[in-house]
Amino acid sequence: NRESETMALTPYTRMEDRGFDLEDRLDVLEESDLKRTLSPVDRVAERGYFAPPCGGELPVLDSAEALVFASNNYLGLTDDQRIQDAARQAAATVGTGAGASRLVTGDTMVHQDLERVLAETKGTDRALAFSSGYAANVGTITALEPDVIFSDEYNHASIIDGCRLTDADSIVYSHCDPTSLRTKLEERARAAGNADESWLIVTDSVFSMDGTVAPIAELCDLAEEFGAWVMVDEAHATGLYANGGGVVQSEGLEDRVHVQMGTLSKALASQGGYVAGSDELIECLCNDARSFVFSTGLAPPAAAAASEALHVARHSDVRERLWENVAHLRDGLESMGFEVIGDSQILPVLVGDRRDALALADGLRSREVVAPAIRPPTVPEGTSRIRVAPMATHEQRDIVACLEAFRAAGEDVGIL
Ligand code: PMP
Repeated sequence: NRESETMALTPYTRMEDRGFDLEDRLDVLEESDLKRTLSPVDRVAERGYFAPPCGGELPVLDSAEALVFASNNYLGLTDDQRIQDAARQAAATVGTGAGASRLVTGDTMVHQDLERVLAETKGTDRALAFSSGYAANVGTITALEPDVIFSDEYNHASIIDGCRLTDADSIVYSHCDPTSLRTKLEERARAAGNADESWLIVTDSVFSMDGTVAPIAELCDLAEEFGAWVMVDEAHATGLYANGGGVVQSEGLEDRVHVQMGTLSKALASQGGYVAGSDELIECLCNDARSFVFSTGLAPPAAAAASEALHVARHSDVRERLWENVAHLRDGLESMGFEVIGDSQILPVLVGDRRDALALADGLRSREVVAPAIRPPTVPEGTSRIRVAPMATHEQRDIVACLEAFRAAGEDVGIL
């Protein structure tokens, strides 16, 4: 019979171990100072929430005990009363969870309100909320089914994973470098001849580890010349620029960028992601973005919190306060002699050696300032840095305290 035939053809020999040597992997990380770990959380900050800063021992966000300059909560809105009230009210009236995919029974007024205000802010026909920014990138890139993707070398992991999940040829161009992109476009155009290919150029707008801002207008020029589409990930920009939008809004590029993506989890103080674009794009994503179709709708309190945060970002002075803090901190660090890279609200202080960066972060932490060391493989070898991210809610005295901690820790480590 067939079963005994198969058994005879595939003799079974017992293997020693088909598992995974995780201890070995962890030892390798430990030995090269690259092991990350979560902090043991044994207390909760007085404001009732905590954010373990990359293995730090101070599980405290902006409490009396430590000043956190490490958060993506750029506008400091996670403890804003208006936003908390909106989340509470949505939980009480709509429920704590959507209960199903939006296409089944999970759609609510709260989701549609959020999408309306996102589309208005982003200057598009429509917007669609996803359960995370990660899901938005992966779902959108796979749904578009591009033949070729041109991707900035420092793009976020969720873009890279989206590219990997398609059958597209992914072509990586140098960071924020339109000349490098042009070379890649020309090479591909020569190779493609008259083949009918769909091309997508994809970039973060603000790069979270470098603080750089993509030259989006120049990318659009190239896209128009070669007939490609442009997708911009505004995760670190949404809420911070013109009218509460991102870099696309501050540069007036709404009509030239085909896909505007972002997250609700950073300046908008919530959880979830979004894509904004044309009617046809959103209709297509509703049908073909598997991370939308086959995933439970965003939790209504998260959607309501994000809508309210967008309202606050658009109609109050929080953005102005953030940019004032950014200017103060950047000037202070540079005048002390630190090298601050980037052009955005993220102020990476370049250190170089990974051990010096760790020592500087430890020195800051012992002075009650939390700002993490960013090391390989997150950034290239020899470019370890401290990622400093001020918030709109930092007071002048907090900025001064941060600068003093940098001076003292920098002198201790011998960087200054
Ligand atoms: N894109 C970028 C550029 C990001 O930095 C992040 C989050 N770190 C994401 C997408 C994913 O967003 P989310 O955290 O909402 O999944």
